Amino acid sequence: MFDVVIIGGGPAGMSAALVAGRGKQNVLLIDEEKPRNAVTKESHAFLTRDGIKPEEFREKGRQDLLKYPSISIKNDRVRAIVKLTDDSFELTTQSGVNIHTKNIVLATGLKETLPDVKSIEHYYGTSIFSCPFCDGWEMKEHSLILIIESIQAFHLTKLLKNWTDDLVIATNGNYFLNSEQKENLALNNIRLIEDKIVELKGDQGQLQSVTFETGEELVRTGGFCATVLDNTLPFIEQLGIEVNDFGYITTDMMGHTSIPGIYAAGEITGPSQLIVSASQGHMAGIGIIADSSEAHFLTK
Ligand SMILES: Cc1cc2nc3c(=O)[nH]c(=O)nc-3n(C[C@H](O)[C@H](O)[C@H](O)COP(=O)(O)OP(=O)(O)OC[C@H]3O[C@@H](n4cnc5c(N)ncnc54)[C@H](O)[C@@H]3O)c2cc1C
Repeated sequence: MFDVVIIGGGPAGMSAALVAGRGKQNVLLIDEEKPRNAVTKESHAFLTRDGIKPEEFREKGRQDLLKYPSISIKNDRVRAIVKLTDDSFELTTQSGVNIHTKNIVLATGLKETLPDVKSIEHYYGTSIFSCPFCDGWEMKEHSLILIIESIQAFHLTKLLKNWTDDLVIATNGNYFLNSEQKENLALNNIRLIEDKIVELKGDQGQLQSVTFETGEELVRTGGFCATVLDNTLPFIEQLGIEVNDFGYITTDMMGHTSIPGIYAAGEITGPSQLIVSASQGHMAGIGIIADSSEAHFLTK
């Protein structure tokens, strides 16, 4: 029986493992190694690791964990979690292994769907990105396109103005902007194109132009897009874990979910960045040790 099984080996899961393992908990980290940022070449804005390759970041994280005999790592996918009558949990993995644990940290991150634009996946992570805080600095000298397919992503327009004055908004055949919003775009010198995008042209992920159904080929050397994020995991529903209106798991500062013994950290609680996810994992690790210490401290 493990004290803690952590599901997901991104910054959230690895930080939770590090803190819990250093707190003398018997920790197992299970990771299927499909992080959201695997498509990109560099990660930015993590203090002391700015510009690091995502795989190097993970490798360094794992090296930190493996210094501690209290922590082990298994490459696998958790398929199901069942709560047992003694309040412990049984996990079943893709490889068919059953694992028992007193506590669980869910740190499985998010999956994302890109806009409905042919071959955008060839450019995503190289010259088209989704998070201006992560990649805005690197793209600030480029002629940029922002692809948004719904009004929910309109706020990205204002954010991107922080990095560039050369911005075109493309709604890819979707008509959701009202006349006031269009006037505001014009006031800010932002061109709006509502026609469908038929082609992205470029070389080795480096965008060169965007072709619209009108036949116009617009030179653009980079861009951002709004992605649809999804954290659907069967066990969130099976266990009845509370989620907010956007479907993300709700927690307190220490990572407690609505189910005792289950903690959550990182993007499964809402989209963020590496350093934020790492800090949430750190807090979940503290939460586990604080709860365990409380339970084991003898009182009259
Ligand atoms: C293109 C792109 C560029 C980015 N650039 C930056 C950047 O420059 N700076 C920055 O701070 N952030 C960046 N981000 C965001 C960053 O990737 C996330 O904030 C961060 O990875 C979230 O960490 P996490 O630990 O919550 O999830 P993840 O890092 O996604 O890790 C979750 C892990 O859980 C595993 N997992 C999922 N389900 C299971 C299961 N059932 N069983 C076992 N394992 C499972 C996944 O395979 C994955 O390895 C970028 C994101 C993208 C998409």
